[in-house]
Amino acid sequence: MSIDDVLSAELLERIRGRAAGYDERNEFCHEDLDELQEAGYLRALVPTEHGGLGWELPHLVKAQRLLASYAPATSLAVNMHQIWVSVARQMVQLGHTAFEQVLSEAAQGHIFAFGISEAGNDAVLFDSVTEARVSEDGSVTFTGTKIFTTLAPVWTRLGLFGKDVEATGEDGELPLIFGFLPREATGWRTIENWDTLGMRATQSHTTELDHANVPQKRVVRKLPLGPNQDPLVFSIFSSFLTLLAAVYTGIGDRALELAAELPNQRKALSTGTTLDQDPDFRYKVAEAQLRQLALDAHLYSVASDVETGQSHGPSWFPRLVSLRTSATRTARYIVDTALSVGGGAQYHRTSELSRLYRDVLAGIHHPSDDESAHRTLAAYILGPLE
Ligand SMILES: Cc1cc2nc3c(=O)[nH]c(=O)nc-3n(C[C@H](O)[C@H](O)[C@H](O)COP(=O)(O)OP(=O)(O)OC[C@H]3O[C@@H](n4cnc5c(N)ncnc54)[C@H](O)[C@@H]3O)c2cc1C
Repeated sequence: MSIDDVLSAELLERIRGRAAGYDERNEFCHEDLDELQEAGYLRALVPTEHGGLGWELPHLVKAQRLLASYAPATSLAVNMHQIWVSVARQMVQLGHTAFEQVLSEAAQGHIFAFGISEAGNDAVLFDSVTEARVSEDGSVTFTGTKIFTTLAPVWTRLGLFGKDVEATGEDGELPLIFGFLPREATGWRTIENWDTLGMRATQSHTTELDHANVPQKRVVRKLPLGPNQDPLVFSIFSSFLTLLAAVYTGIGDRALELAAELPNQRKALSTGTTLDQDPDFRYKVAEAQLRQLALDAHLYSVASDVETGQSHGPSWFPRLVSLRTSATRTARYIVDTALSVGGGAQYHRTSELSRLYRDVLAGIHHPSDDESAHRTLAAYILGPLE
């Protein structure tokens, strides 16, 4: 199935038509998600043998970018699900069959959320302040607080991790435990505190875990503390950073469209011509286009390298954080340009650009943030900090 078959022009227009209302009412994008599920989009990356559409990552990147140009928050919300499917696809390709459950359950209609972030945890995947306790039967209970759980109102599986403080490291015992919490499990609750500047339709509430029980069959991997080369680490970072870049590139696409359209609708009293003929305006929009075309090439080269398993060795993480940083910076630059050439009307609270401006600022806060990306790049080029 092609992207147009799944994200039809009519569906995309309906999604765009609802975006302002979700934002205004601070509501989850329920209708969008239902329609995307119905269209098969939540099983896009699932291989056909598992009941999915069999798309590859660059194809999904293109689709997520397109969806973001219609509704950034809806695209970011569904992104979290797509990231887990992408992770599972990579892990299964490498022979880690524990992740097959993600592929088959996504094909059945389950919705996967990303319960990784914890307040103040700048080690991200390499440590956790959530306590994991392994029971005799191999199930694991998790106690702690996960922040920014996108898809909070609807997820049916929450992919999370925590630290087993009793793991000694002997006999291959590893402390960081990853698993998928079923919604029907006890020992967790959502704290409805999502009232943010932008990306409001993601409803990324806090999740409090109090002995939330993940059965043994849903415990998928154990890792050591600290940076390591495990394939799960690469699959999470590569899927997350590439798909996140797709969303922000899509915001830039829409802003650029508006930056091209709006000056046409404004006439200068002094010259009697529309502002698309003004050399200064033309330079600004051209600069935005220049940056977006560079990002376009960057995005697809990284997505294609992830898909084909290119061996970039130690330059992989610098490449991934560079893409994420360029995508969010470029999107902010283009939205800023569109606001500038679009005129004062766009500063009104209800204008689409005003909402895009609020949405695009969320790009500051996703991992790897600007400081962390630069630490990665500095260590790559200058060696470790002494
Ligand atoms: C739109 C968006 C969606 C995201 N979705 C996910 C996701 O699905 N899964 C995931 O693992 N990570 C997600 N992230 C989280 C992200 O990756 C970071 O972990 C997050 O931005 C926190 O960064 P920080 O450590 O700088 O926050 P910090 O500022 O250090 O900590 C944030 C903490 O402060 C609390 N807080 C502070 N002020 C207020 C206030 N006024 N009202 C309520 N609470 C307050 C927050 O609830 C949270 O507990 C998302 C981020 C964004 C911006």
